Amino acid sequence: MEYILVIDQGTTSTRAVCYDKLGEVIYFSQKEYEQVFPKVGYVEQDLNVVLGSLNFVLKDVLNKLGDNILGIGIANQRETTILFNKEGKPLYNAISWQCKRTNYLCEQLKNNGYEDMIKAKTGLIIDPYFSASKMYWLLHNVPFALDKALKEELYFGTMDTYLMYYLSDGKIFKTDVTNASRTMLYNIYEKRWDDELLKIFDIPKYMLPEVCPSKHLYGYTSKNSIFKKEIPILGVAGDQQASLFGHLCTEVGDTKVTYGTGCFMLTNIGNKIPKTSKLLTTISVMYDDNINYAVEGSVFFAGSLVKWLRDNLGLIKTSSESEDLALKVDDTKDVYIVPAFTGLGAPYWDKDALGMIVNLTEGVNKNHLVRAALEAINYQVYDVLELVKKELGINISKIYVDGGASKNNFLMQNQADILKMQVIRPKNIEKTSLGIFYLVALGLNIYSSLDQLKAIKRSEKTFYENMPPLKRDLLIKGWHEAVRKALK
Ligand code: ADP
Repeated sequence: MEYILVIDQGTTSTRAVCYDKLGEVIYFSQKEYEQVFPKVGYVEQDLNVVLGSLNFVLKDVLNKLGDNILGIGIANQRETTILFNKEGKPLYNAISWQCKRTNYLCEQLKNNGYEDMIKAKTGLIIDPYFSASKMYWLLHNVPFALDKALKEELYFGTMDTYLMYYLSDGKIFKTDVTNASRTMLYNIYEKRWDDELLKIFDIPKYMLPEVCPSKHLYGYTSKNSIFKKEIPILGVAGDQQASLFGHLCTEVGDTKVTYGTGCFMLTNIGNKIPKTSKLLTTISVMYDDNINYAVEGSVFFAGSLVKWLRDNLGLIKTSSESEDLALKVDDTKDVYIVPAFTGLGAPYWDKDALGMIVNLTEGVNKNHLVRAALEAINYQVYDVLELVKKELGINISKIYVDGGASKNNFLMQNQADILKMQVIRPKNIEKTSLGIFYLVALGLNIYSSLDQLKAIKRSEKTFYENMPPLKRDLLIKGWHEAVRKALK
């Protein structure tokens, strides 16, 4: 059987998603793994464990479907940074995008007045989240790393680069534009590694991979790899941009929201970069010669708030049960949960804000609390979307959704009500791998244009707003009053 293989390398699991030529999933394999938390604020990934999970799913796929793979594509957790030698051996665990160990470096950069320059070149705000400060840390803390780097013996990569290096036996040392745009070293206007930034972060340029379009013939798997043959790698993108492309959000204003652990909202803004102050600007999947940008806003606690209700408060047994409980009551009895567990992100950016449950009265039961938690996810998305509309001066009339929590019908209906717009949920919510499938299928000339991809009918469900405007306004006002109490 001929098929296309998409590797989706995520923060806590690796998946292999197999597609037929029509873009239908024919097999799916997933292996979860644990991250490493050596001390407070430190988050790492053991690369033996990550590669173990990769080999597990690849073996499973090869056993099930055989090796008649037309092409491979990769979606990956972004920003996570790896220092490795020419044999592909890592010198240290991967430093996860979630790791805060370089907070002190970021503070220093801000004190030195670099914020505006870095935002103007990279579209990013200074934060330990992005790769550059992690690279600096690795070079200056891993024994002998600096010496070896000066002898041109070491490389840096994000997960896409590392996996390609691994699967090609060191022949491919490349990354794609979406991943490069999250390093804080890539100039998104000039489309090149930025010399001034490389100097500030003290990174020799040879250590960084060649940057390619997302749709590109990156090279071939090695005969020594698990595939035991050469298979072309034809598409690569960071997971959030891959999902934006999976929704085929290619027109200016097209917006997707992924409801996973956190919520990631990306809006395609075409080829002009606006001066956004509170949002990140990033490069969209590059499927032809043109470069397009997206603005990105995120909500830190979304699905994880539901997990918290389940694991910490024991109010629900499964995440999906939250829907049933929320629907048992007509409202939250004015209760709001502000999930500022690690401060609040856009548009508040208050890292000291405190989590809160407000307006508790005797009549409040667990159904109200569960409903308040789900609504809190939606209010946060509302705040980010309002910011996007305000800063870009564009109208957004619908959003495309995916991610585990988007299965919750109450959540999606309430989101349509709060946003006052259509919420469109595809039947297949695996949009990240679908985006990569599109890249590989274009690379193989199975499809020749975006229009052809858009013409494929895929079933979806649309949620339409259905809430009296006054009620909506009062709810949002109540949310903002609750947030004000949480801010420091
Ligand atoms: P990630 O890729 O970020 O790990 P997923 O997209 O797999 O996350 O979504 C998992 C998250 O969504 C979990 O935090 C879980 O609590 C939440 N979740 C899953 N199903 C539901 C549901 N039906 N209702 C609400 N939340 C859900």
